[in-house]
Amino acid sequence: MTVDRQTRPGKIVCVGRNYRAHAAELGNEVPREPLLFLKPPSSIIHDGDPIILPGISNQVEHEGEIGIVIGARLKDATEDESRAAVAAVIALNDVTARDLQRSDGQWTRAKGFDTFCPVGPPADPPSDLSTITVTTHVNGALRQSGRASDMVFPIPFLLSYISRIMTLEPGDYVATGTPAGVGALVPGDVVEVEVGGSVVRSNVRDEVRDGRKQRAESRNGS
Ligand code: ZN
Repeated sequence: MTVDRQTRPGKIVCVGRNYRAHAAELGNEVPREPLLFLKPPSSIIHDGDPIILPGISNQVEHEGEIGIVIGARLKDATEDESRAAVAAVIALNDVTARDLQRSDGQWTRAKGFDTFCPVGPPADPPSDLSTITVTTHVNGALRQSGRASDMVFPIPFLLSYISRIMTLEPGDYVATGTPAGVGALVPGDVVEVEVGGSVVRSNVRDEVRDGRKQRAESRNGS
């Protein structure tokens, strides 16, 4: 299949706490089974598009991740079938409103805002998926560095596991979890995620409505 900027996935399946050090930094246990959630395709932006900080959050964080683009239909797939169905890897930033993630108890709002899924262009996957790396830089400084071989649940296992719950269709994305080093984004930041030659760079901006910034703290005293 061809994978390009215009191809919007039917779904984005995400995996939480898939690196031990990241689970620890948020005070969470390492899950016994993959922890799955979804991001809406409407959250996708591309290289050069801005991340807009929503006014109702005071803590928006970057999560650089290895993104997988599915190339063939997977239902009840084996790990070998899953490995063969990886069409491309993409840099993916699972932008998260950490305060809303904590307060809501489920993650649809915290993970689902428009602009909260910057993705890079597709790159060819290596023959050994465990060698894929991800880095996140903020304003040029390295903040996150991970390797697929450090995952709690490896990529072929994840795809096989997901395919037993929901059919993975060609074009779907799977975000495989973020390594340690997540941190807050503020207006003016430039965040860059790189995965195997796929790069997505985003400027961070405040939400502006009616010509005014709508930051939550600015409403607290009114
Ligand atoms: Zn994530």
